[in-house]
Amino acid sequence: MFDRVTFIGIGLIGSSMARVMKRDGLAKTIVACARRKETLDTCLKLGIADEVTPDYAAAVKNADLIVIATPISTNGEIAKAIGPHLKPGAIVTDVGSVKQAVIDAVSPHIPKGAHFVPAHPLAGTEHSGPEAGFPELFQGRWCIITPLPGSDASAVQKVRDFWEKAGSKIETMQADHHDKVLAITSHLPHLIAFTIVGTADDLAEDLKQEVIQYSASGFRDFTRIAASDPVMWRDVFMNNREAVLEILQRFTEDLTALQRAIRRGDGEALQTLFARTRAIRRGVIDAKQA
Ligand code: NAP
Repeated sequence: MFDRVTFIGIGLIGSSMARVMKRDGLAKTIVACARRKETLDTCLKLGIADEVTPDYAAAVKNADLIVIATPISTNGEIAKAIGPHLKPGAIVTDVGSVKQAVIDAVSPHIPKGAHFVPAHPLAGTEHSGPEAGFPELFQGRWCIITPLPGSDASAVQKVRDFWEKAGSKIETMQADHHDKVLAITSHLPHLIAFTIVGTADDLAEDLKQEVIQYSASGFRDFTRIAASDPVMWRDVFMNNREAVLEILQRFTEDLTALQRAIRRGDGEALQTLFARTRAIRRGVIDAKQA
């Protein structure tokens, strides 16, 4: 599929993609680029990269696919550094959890003749780094591609082909729509988890011990989400501000309504809501996203 693929950033997502490429023989040569020597050594040790370098320009030389898989806040600077070294026809793609901000930061640095195809695999775990990756991560999960107006059709198709090989289901949509959908399906749930776990952490020491001891009664599931990478999630909220604030406003109103129902002893309102939410879980299971 590709002669030379370069990963800039090769943690959970990048290394899982590299593993798919190795498993299915999709790239003749895989180059890994990261800041820390330890990360690069790990890639060689795991056999997920053939060549490694911390140098952006050297990393992208002659590459026909470049995957940017670093925290979103770094993407603009990385695009600026690699732009002048891209070969004609090179495809640059990314995996960022927010799309419009990444497009705004990266697009201006992609030279004429190279192609930028933004994408976001809706798959992940709370673990980070190249050792955390595995090739089945994307199996049966959605990958959303947000092509730019005038995107080269064959470049979009190549990115699509890769994600299909990875076992993903593909959807294309506008970047701003993606950001709204993800604000409710991913960003708000993470924010709630960070809040609940943070609230528990602020409790008095003896109470905190009990929260951990009895966490299986609900708290535990939030701790998994709240253990996600702090830098990645800082960047998500810094870069999808408007959509998150809008959905947070609605959530706050709904929370206030629930608060009122509890205070007034309105059991019917509570039961009606809980019955509705239980049915949503059924839909998630039926859609094989459980
Ligand atoms: P990760 O496991 O923490 O890996 C990040 C990688 O980026 C590491 O290899 C790190 O290298 C490298 N890096 C960081 N800053 C860099 C810089 N300035 N220059 C070069 N390399 C740099 O992160 P991840 O979970 O794979 O997430 C990567 C991207 O995927 C993010 O944009 C995120 O929004 C998106 N995403 C994540 C998930 C998820 O659940 N984790 C799901 C979908 C999409 P060093 O080791 O050298 O620091």
